[in-house]
Amino acid sequence: MASVKVAVRVRPFNQRELDMDTKLIIQMSGKTTGILNCKANTRDESIRYKEFAFDYSYWSHDEKSPNFASQERVYNDLGTEVVDCAFEGYNACVFAYGQTGSGKTFTMMGSPDNQGLIPRICKALFDRMSENSKRGTTHRVQVSYLEIYQERVADLLRGRDSASLKVREHPKKGPYVQGLTTCLVTNYGHIQECMNRGNSHRTTAATNMNDVSSRSHAIFTITFVQAGYCDGVPSETVSKIHLVDLAGSERADATGATGQRLKEGAHINKSLVTLGSVISALAELSVDTSGQRKSFFIPYRDSVLTWLLKDSLGGNSKTIMIATISPADCNYGETLSTLRYANRAK
Ligand code: ADP
Ligand code: MG
Repeated sequence: MASVKVAVRVRPFNQRELDMDTKLIIQMSGKTTGILNCKANTRDESIRYKEFAFDYSYWSHDEKSPNFASQERVYNDLGTEVVDCAFEGYNACVFAYGQTGSGKTFTMMGSPDNQGLIPRICKALFDRMSENSKRGTTHRVQVSYLEIYQERVADLLRGRDSASLKVREHPKKGPYVQGLTTCLVTNYGHIQECMNRGNSHRTTAATNMNDVSSRSHAIFTITFVQAGYCDGVPSETVSKIHLVDLAGSERADATGATGQRLKEGAHINKSLVTLGSVISALAELSVDTSGQRKSFFIPYRDSVLTWLLKDSLGGNSKTIMIATISPADCNYGETLSTLRYANRAK
């Protein structure tokens, strides 16, 4: 049965917001995140304040807040589940969703002295593998790192000039990217090297919104194979972990986009809209306790992103969405739309 978890993480004010003296409009308590509309000229509380409940609501301004979440806490709550899942032989997907500058890359990659989910998950995988090796299990780990930009796939381990790759469908194994580099990695240092190489190749372009903004989806995939003996018979379990740093969710008009930028916006939204529909359909499946198998149509094929991740969305896979938001009044519209998107995924 599909399982979807949703977390919301608010970042601290950035310098621009501090300079503008913008107000804090986010409140968190337990699992709930509330958003205040300062500009609403009404006493109607339902317009002035909206509240949503998620699996986790993560605060970042004040370490004393019970909702405060360090990189370590986010890993402990969400990353360990992914690692457990992989060792049990299931697939997992983690998505970071939010407007540009809200903390997606911080959450997924982090920095060398404050690592995010991806390096922590990789580290834990290798630590646990060396434990299990003592008990006779052998492991094989492969990574690939790709980028979807305007519904085209580029190989981040090969470099930006590499031609766009074709997505094909294997009759048994499902969708795959033809010719994508996969690196066999044998230790954490090696996987880190792949991460760094891919990060340095990510496509970025300037928009009015931010000096450098990510207009593409980046998918870091770990294929994890465990081989051992089950009742004396050799057996092999394969699990895949997809760690996805999505493109900025801002609407094209919010970035003052025209021409090429606007075209990019339309493609980016298509993938994000489809992802939202797929995840909310899966979330509905997982709450259907009637025992009857409803047949939901899940529109995997509507975007490259969801098509490629098909084998890891739904079924016995674990799906985690982390919606990242700004705390500031000036981002009210984008933040509300992010919270709504995340709310649909529950
Ligand atoms: P995005 O990838 O969504 O465009 P980034 O991850 O690059 O955004 O974050 C923008 C800036 O905010 C970065 O300087 C980052 O270090 C900082 N930041 C984001 N989230 C947090 C957080 N939870 N705590 C501290 N700093 C953060
Ligand atoms: Mg980013």
